[in-house]
This record gives sequence, C-alpha cells and structure tokens, in this order.
Amino acid sequence: MSQRQARLRRLNAHPTAASGDFVLYWMQAYRRLSHNHALDYALACARELGRPLVVYEALRLDYPWASARLHRFVLEGMRDNTREAERLGLNYWPFVETLRAPARGLLARIASRAALVVTDDFPCFVVPGQTQALARRVSVPVWAVDSNGIVPLALLQPAVSAAAHLRPRIHKAFAESWAHRASARPRIPDVAGRPVDPPFEPWRSDDLDAFVRSLPIDQAVAPIAGMPGGARPARARLRSFVARRLRGYAESRSAPAAPDAGHASGLSPYLHFGHLSIEQVAAEVLAATGDWSPDDLHIDARGKREGFFSEDADVNAFLDEALTWRDVGFQWHWTRRQDTASLETALPGWALATLRAHASDRRAFVYSLEQWEAADTHDPLWNAAQRELAATGAIHNYLRMLWGKKVIEWSRTPDEAYRTLEHLNNKYALDGRDPNSYTGILWCFGLFDRPWAPERPVLGTVRYMSSENTARKFRIKPYLEYVESLAG
Ligand SMILES: Cc1cc2nc3c(=O)[nH]c(=O)nc-3n(C[C@H](O)[C@H](O)[C@H](O)COP(=O)(O)OP(=O)(O)OC[C@H]3O[C@@H](n4cnc5c(N)ncnc54)[C@H](O)[C@@H]3O)c2cc1C
Repeated sequence: MSQRQARLRRLNAHPTAASGDFVLYWMQAYRRLSHNHALDYALACARELGRPLVVYEALRLDYPWASARLHRFVLEGMRDNTREAERLGLNYWPFVETLRAPARGLLARIASRAALVVTDDFPCFVVPGQTQALARRVSVPVWAVDSNGIVPLALLQPAVSAAAHLRPRIHKAFAESWAHRASARPRIPDVAGRPVDPPFEPWRSDDLDAFVRSLPIDQAVAPIAGMPGGARPARARLRSFVARRLRGYAESRSAPAAPDAGHASGLSPYLHFGHLSIEQVAAEVLAATGDWSPDDLHIDARGKREGFFSEDADVNAFLDEALTWRDVGFQWHWTRRQDTASLETALPGWALATLRAHASDRRAFVYSLEQWEAADTHDPLWNAAQRELAATGAIHNYLRMLWGKKVIEWSRTPDEAYRTLEHLNNKYALDGRDPNSYTGILWCFGLFDRPWAPERPVLGTVRYMSSENTARKFRIKPYLEYVESLAG
C-alpha cells in the first residue's frame, strides 16, 4: 500500500458528481491551512476535476462539553484561518452556529452542490459519527483522509497491547512517511481558487469576548487568557519551546512545575484542535540538532526508546512521547473505535479481573462528582492538580497520572471513576475529547501497562501511585505555590 493510499478511506460508493459546483473540504479536526494531508488531497481533486475548492469549517453549539473555553480556542483558530485563506486565495467558509443561525441541514445542503467531499479521518469524539452520517445522507463520494500522525494509521495495524510493540513499526515506516509529508505551503491552482459565494453569512467577529458570552454554552468554563487558539500562536509556542525548554526535557519533563518553569511543551491543545501538525512539531524539534535528514536516523537503535532519531537525548525523549505515545492512542482508537464506551470493552483481561476482584474493598475515602469537581478532597496535591485543570485547561503531565489514579482509589466503583475522569478531563482540558484523553485515562486503569506487585486494596495489581511518593520524588512546593497564585 502506498503512503497516499494508506491515508485515504472512501466512505460510500457514490460516483463523482461531474456537474458539481466545487470540491468540498469539510474541515472538522485538522483546523489548519498547511501541513494538512486532507487539504492536499482536496486540492489535488479540485485540480483534477477542474473545480474550485471550498473549505468549510463549522462550530456548532451542541457538541458535548460545549463551553466558552473550547469555543473561544476554536474561534481564534477560525480567525487565523480566515486571514490565511485570504492570503492564499482560497474559498474559506467559516460557519458558527447561533440561536439565530442554526446549523441543522446546512452541511448536507452544501455537500449536495459538491462534486465530492473530503474530510478529516479523526478517530474520536463526534467526528466519526458525523462523518458516517454525511456519507449516508449525500449522493456524492465522501473521502476521509488521515492526517493524524507522521506514519499513516493504516500502516500501523494491528492493535497493540503496549507502546513497546508499536515503537518498532513507527521507526520502520518513519523515513518513507517523512518523505511524504503534507505540503508546508500548499499551492492553490487557479481553478481551485475561483471564487464561490457561500449560502450563508460567513462568520466574522470584531468582539470575540462579547460574541462568546452571547452563546448558550457553559460560560462557567472560562476561556484561558494567555493561551490563544490558532495556527499562529501554535507555531509561536512550538518555537519558544524548542528555543527555551527542550533542553532538559529528557531529565526533567516529569518534575511538577508551572508551565513556563518546566520542560513540557504545552502543545497538546494545538495538536488536538489541529492548529498544529505533528509533522511541524517533529521538523522543528529535529532541526534543533542541526541540519537533520533521514540519513541521520540510527537504524541500529530501531525499536528502542533511546537513540533512534538522534544522539540528542532531549530530542529523542520528546519524539518518543510525541510520536510513539501519541500514536498509541490514535492507533488504539483507529482499530477499536467504540471500545471506550466502558471499562468492560476497553481494558485488558488482567486489569479488569483484578479491579473486579477488589470491587468490594473498603475505600479509605469516597468522593462525589461535585467534590471532585470542586477540588474538595483531603489531598492537597490532588486538589492542586484539579485546580490547575479548572483554571488553566491543563494539568502537569506527571500529576495527570496521579490525578487519575486517585480518582480510581477514592470512588465507589471503577466504572464511576471512569465516568468521573472522562467528564473532568473532557470538560476542562483544552486537549480533552482526544484519542489520548481516553487512552491516558485508561492507562490509569491498566491499559498498555502490566500487573505490579504488591497487590493492594481497590487497585489490586494495577500500578499504584501516591501523593506522598510524588512529594518525596520531586520538589512540589513551587508547583503548589503556582496553583495557589492562580486563585488570586
Ligand atoms: C489521566 C490522563 C489523561 C490524559 N488526557 C489527555 C488528553 O485529554 N489529551 C492529550 O493529548 N493527552 C492526554 N494525556 C496524555 C499526556 O498527559 C498529555 O499528552 C501531555 O501531558 C500533554 O502535555 P504537553 O503537550 O506539554 O506534553 P509534552 O511532554 O510536551 O509532549 C509533547 C506531545 O507528545 C504527546 N504526549 C506526551 N505525553 C503523552 C502521553 N503520555 N500519552 C500520549 N501522548 C503524549 C502529546 O501530543 C504532547 O503534546 C492524558 C494522560 C493521562 C494520564
């Protein structure tokens, strides 16, 4: 299978509508106008059919956990895309649903005028369901394009039970996939840029604060000042991470710290909303080693955590998270699709069995969803992590693991803990509602892990973590002070 074929899935059997007005790219997940395989494919179709390209990006009111925080981040991205589309000479149609401008039926009306539809093959949240619904409803071809990772997900099959099994597959396919990256500067053929009028008033807003406040979405989950959405802020954050915080990543990534004091990149929201491509991230990080090319890959280190991409330990450690661990989540969703619905379908047998065997163990503490959400537990470190999440839309990545483990330990049942974690993560985290939201949470329950001795109450042989050990391992005082300062 070629790299290009591996990225494409045809979702219905309808023939191309030769008389269609345009090729439609329905941008659902990769919300950017460069480094985007779906956009490249849509442009190639427009060129081949001699039709204009229309890029339709929409934001509805009714997605799960809709809030001022998530809306604002996406809208800032749409503002960036509007400017970039003007510069490129592309038909870009931003639609934002309001009570006066409902979304119902609009996409199907637009698609019925198209010769064919191209969309994003993002394997999580509302995207797969929406895409299937459109493919059933329209009478033109719908193509889903995988722009999720550097190696197409179709080349990483079948499903794995540990990151160690996926790493060699990624390393093996890396050089060839790297040679087939998406276009950094898409060339718009004249025919693709021919103007087409939208059947609605394209969204524009001079006063984003007032606009977001006017919408019937959860206003209590407030936008994050200092973390604007969009392709431009995403690139700026990437550059500043490489210049200032990549050095030390291998050694100090796990030490809890305020975002600007630690070594985490903070890029996951931009990756999640597609404002940044993982190809851009890898290129910028590899460039930190000098004039990097695939000839510099260390084939003798293929399949190993260290040494494959470069001799630089920080670059390797970062790429192992950003490629192997990120792809583990995407690959798992790609093959298992609906299995996140319950622990029963998601967990490996050993983890499910040990959690069930300890289901009636006495819990040292039991908290309700309201208490979790209000950061009202006996544990100051857990409370700090939850406060950081609620206030900033992010949790430091080591504490995120501890945060998940403790909810399992102090909930009535593992199933209740799973629902609590899904809710808190997806409601507050800017990077939530992602394949890695589910695999990250499920990792706390034993997914991609192994049994650990000794067997303990509640968790059984699922890996245990404690706030006391975390406090012994790291200096947590500066982190607690940082979270304290967020309240003021
Ligand atoms: C309970 C729990 C929930 C999680 N929920 C999410 C989520 O909603 N969305 C999300 O993207 N990640 C999630 N993760 C994975 C991980 O915590 C975040 O990706 C990481 O903290 C993001 O911060 P960063 O961008 O600063 O990471 P960096 O350390 O700078 O890493 C760079 C990139 O690599 C990827 N990455 C890093 N660590 C992991 C990891 N452990 N697993 C998968 N990918 C990784 C991310 O894309 C990240 O942006 C979760 C983990 C746990 C334990």
